[in-house]
Amino acid sequence: MDIHKKVDVLSKSAAFDCEGPPKLTREQRNAQFMTNSVAHVIHPQRGKIPVMRTMQTSACERNCHYCPFQAGANYRRVSLKPEELASAFDQMSRKKLVDGLFLSSGIIGGGVKAMDKLLATTEIVRQKYQYQGYIHLKIMPSSEPAQIERAARLADRLSINLEGANENRLPTLAPKKDFIKELLPPLYWLHQNEHQLEPWVKRPSLSTQFVVGPAGEKDNELLTTVNRLYREAGLGRAYYSAFNPIRGTPFENIPATPKLRQHRLYQADWLLRFYGFNLNELPFQADGNLPLTTDPKLIWAKHHLTERPVELNRASRSELLRVPGIGPKTATAIINARRVGQLTDIEHLKQLKAQTNRAAPYILLNGQRPGYQLSLL
Ligand code: SF4
Repeated sequence: MDIHKKVDVLSKSAAFDCEGPPKLTREQRNAQFMTNSVAHVIHPQRGKIPVMRTMQTSACERNCHYCPFQAGANYRRVSLKPEELASAFDQMSRKKLVDGLFLSSGIIGGGVKAMDKLLATTEIVRQKYQYQGYIHLKIMPSSEPAQIERAARLADRLSINLEGANENRLPTLAPKKDFIKELLPPLYWLHQNEHQLEPWVKRPSLSTQFVVGPAGEKDNELLTTVNRLYREAGLGRAYYSAFNPIRGTPFENIPATPKLRQHRLYQADWLLRFYGFNLNELPFQADGNLPLTTDPKLIWAKHHLTERPVELNRASRSELLRVPGIGPKTATAIINARRVGQLTDIEHLKQLKAQTNRAAPYILLNGQRPGYQLSLL
């Protein structure tokens, strides 16, 4: 099989990752090779960018029960040498088909060996091909501190997939992965050893991913772990992947997790990251899950703001962020608008990009409940 065909096959395999299916432009579809290699990711500064998303190898000795590449599975195995993969990326980059690299791998010969191959590929891309753009690198389980340090110098983003909510849930999903010994330490390494990086090395952002559903974990278990990592390990982002059974895996008969659960987890996650909520303020039900029927912020507001609406002309930024329909940008816009004059009209709030139909039941404008809201009651 030639290199381009291998890249094509490996990139299809990499689409099992959580960053969304490949979406191709006409130009990319018309390219003569590597048509499955292009995915889009959200770059923190540049928005949506096309990246080459691929794997070093789809061979794997681990047995994660949700994964089509697990050892013994009937799956076509393909591997690329570091130079082959780096060269294929360089060609795509020069043709301007991609503007970034997302690199993952199966594990053969242990996590350290697999990580060495990923690092070798990335070093060729950076040093031989002088690529300065975006690179997202997966950290393999059991990676050593020196490897993580190398990765931190090479990549813009590092991700370590925890997969399970905690050490009790992971064995159901991935019996050969060890949550405490081989997944958590790399996550914490960067935060604790940042000082080892020279001042001119930009610290990569850190993300993780969970498979939601088949281990029977509750939403509060997932969000407890994530909340701790946001605060203690400098985690930048968590991805929640609603489980979807894949034929030929041990989990093929387990029902898919509703996408709505994934959505509610993301909403709750944003409350923790951007809205100043504490974990114990999230509206978990008695069974430990978030209600599927309603946005968690709306549930909180119904309980806390219905009788005590927020006066938008006096509220602090953190109080504004508690109001449904008001996000961080709108909260800033409201604070800026107050410097010019009082907010008295719901239409003014609409101009500031608030979702007024969601906000109205929970606010006061100059001491008055908005007329818009009254008409709804
Ligand atoms: S380590 Fe697990 S999730 Fe990763 S490729 Fe191997 S079997 Fe799949």
